[in-house]
Amino acid sequence: MGLLTKGSALSWEETQRYRDYVKKHGILQFINLYKKLKERENDEFKWGDEIEYMLVHFDNEHKKAQLALVATEVLPKLMQPENEAIKKGEEDLLSALWRPEYGNFMIESAPGTPNTSDLECFSKVEDNMRVRRSEANAVMKEDDFVMTLTNFPRNGCPDFTFPASRCTPLDTKSFLRSLFFPDECVFPDHPRFMTMARNMVQRRGSKPVINVPIFVDKNTPQPFMDDLFGLDTTGNDLAQRAENHVYMDCGGFGAGCCCLQATFQARNTEEGRRLYDQLIPLCPILLAMTAAAPIYKGYLVQTDCRWGIESQSLDDRTEEERGLKPLQESRHVIPKARYGSVDSYLSDAGSLYNDVDLVVDEELLKIMLDAGVDVPLARHVAHLFIRDPVLILKENLHQDDEKDSDHFEGIQSSNWQSMRFKPPPPDSPIGCRVEFRPMEVQLTDFENAAFVIFIVLLTRVILTFDLNLLIPMSKVEENIKEAQKMDAVRNGQFYFRRDIFQENSPTTPPFYTKYFKFLKKEYSQMSINHIINGKKGHFPGLLPLIKDYLKSVELSVETHTKLRTYLRFIRRRASGELKTAARWMRDFVDQHPEYKHDSIVNDRVNYDLLSKCRDLASGQAFDPSLQLERAPPLQAEDSDEEDWSQVDVDQTEN
Ligand code: ADP
Ligand code: MG
Ligand code: MG
Repeated sequence: MGLLTKGSALSWEETQRYRDYVKKHGILQFINLYKKLKERENDEFKWGDEIEYMLVHFDNEHKKAQLALVATEVLPKLMQPENEAIKKGEEDLLSALWRPEYGNFMIESAPGTPNTSDLECFSKVEDNMRVRRSEANAVMKEDDFVMTLTNFPRNGCPDFTFPASRCTPLDTKSFLRSLFFPDECVFPDHPRFMTMARNMVQRRGSKPVINVPIFVDKNTPQPFMDDLFGLDTTGNDLAQRAENHVYMDCGGFGAGCCCLQATFQARNTEEGRRLYDQLIPLCPILLAMTAAAPIYKGYLVQTDCRWGIESQSLDDRTEEERGLKPLQESRHVIPKARYGSVDSYLSDAGSLYNDVDLVVDEELLKIMLDAGVDVPLARHVAHLFIRDPVLILKENLHQDDEKDSDHFEGIQSSNWQSMRFKPPPPDSPIGCRVEFRPMEVQLTDFENAAFVIFIVLLTRVILTFDLNLLIPMSKVEENIKEAQKMDAVRNGQFYFRRDIFQENSPTTPPFYTKYFKFLKKEYSQMSINHIINGKKGHFPGLLPLIKDYLKSVELSVETHTKLRTYLRFIRRRASGELKTAARWMRDFVDQHPEYKHDSIVNDRVNYDLLSKCRDLASGQAFDPSLQLERAPPLQAEDSDEEDWSQVDVDQTEN
């Protein structure tokens, strides 16, 4: 949900002027957080999800789906119950928290309160997501819907917004300067989004360049050159586009994507680091399993995920930092953008697998080490702090480093990495949290609930069985690339650890000790099917481990039944029996009578595709190649009175 303090943003020149001041105080604030972090013990396990939504307008007369630029209108309505609850001290009764996101066509929600260690809450997760969807749909106009789409397929195409908006790439006042994505599409009511967008372009010295390989179909021209829709350009865009690639030119193409996140509170900092580390190798696996974004700017592309597009579009490195010029003004050559996979493990066990060169701010590292911060965490933070602040609020400039943490949070929350380690905020009951961030948002609440619950259960299994999933960081990085390839769930090969049990550990279930004798190497390449579902004699599989774990906990029949359905879905998604949203969308486009097999997803195909997605989420439509069961009908407004526990669950299979 991010740091959303209101205030007035400093200009880019001022932001640069205060850069070192803000970074230094960010580090001092972190040191203070660290001292308190170390003292915390026995925090309760709590967790919550975050879902981002697209706001979509359906022009049923012209058979066109557009992004509705209405977040500024709908958010105040959605946030009203929260504002009232705060006044009355009744925050615990809220069903949802609503927040702005980057686009004025996006909103974000989380449950009203985090879930607890009571596993019965699993039977309420999907209900809560459905209530949130209903709440949001209830404040949308008649033909507008909130949709859990990872990317809007025609983002950046002519006339893709409602109301219409206009690009002004040659206007010096334009902060994005995009040929395709108008400034008006960015959420205007909070400085975070517009100012950061502006400052990132300023910092880089140019618009970002995003080139994504096109999916070549039988009628796609060869070579393919993106015609930029014939839009007027200063010439640089023509030079930046690459042959056989779809060209995009601003943060709106990545930051305008939606994702699904989960946050876990750990018992203490040691457990937090351990969870952080153990979840790192799972990031690529879950990215591949949730792949849902195969279409950009109206073209089918050769990737199934948002990940690489996000990285390219949120890349504010200078030319020197990108290694294109010798270092003069900039301090480091930095291999990756602000948006990307993590580069270091944090626990002692994990440190042994840190085989990727970590670029760190040496000066800030020294301050932390001198203050007693341990090496892995100090290096992690010194790595985050190679980035400069891209948003400083005037009101927050001078802070009490004992009591405030905005300067630390400012850098931390503009490092958009696959995992985030969150120390407890100052003077707060909240403990140490770990955020799992790679997943793409799924079309239906059932799928979103299933993936969130799956990852929550994995955290319990990791801790209960004392699993060790660590592999060298460089292999995780290779997996991240593999995960984005088309159909990675079915065809990908991923490095994964084989001896996931600690030998002779009392936590290893006796049955699994037989796996040890098969081990020659710590890790090998496996399909997602093998990682999740197991392979006899070679790898136990994460799902069977979850099932073993569930045998040891008591659950109501209702919760047990629901969990079985979610896990059955995960099994079939991993085995390739059920399609990812990405594969399903590709097939939908391929079979559409208006699709000319030229890679272009035109307005009509987009309208039909999105209408179908909307209907799958609301239960109006059902597709057994994608879904396990039909979504129960969505009820507007009175949805929280609906007894969803009465919904039929198919129990024919284990
Ligand atoms: P961000 O993820 O942008 O940093 P937040 O810090 O607001 O944003 O985290 C939001 C998520 O964290 C939600 O899913 C929420 O339910 C969950 N959450 C809130 N408090 C806790 C807590 N004490 N422990 C674990 N999760 C929490
Ligand atoms: Mg968000
Ligand atoms: Mg988040």
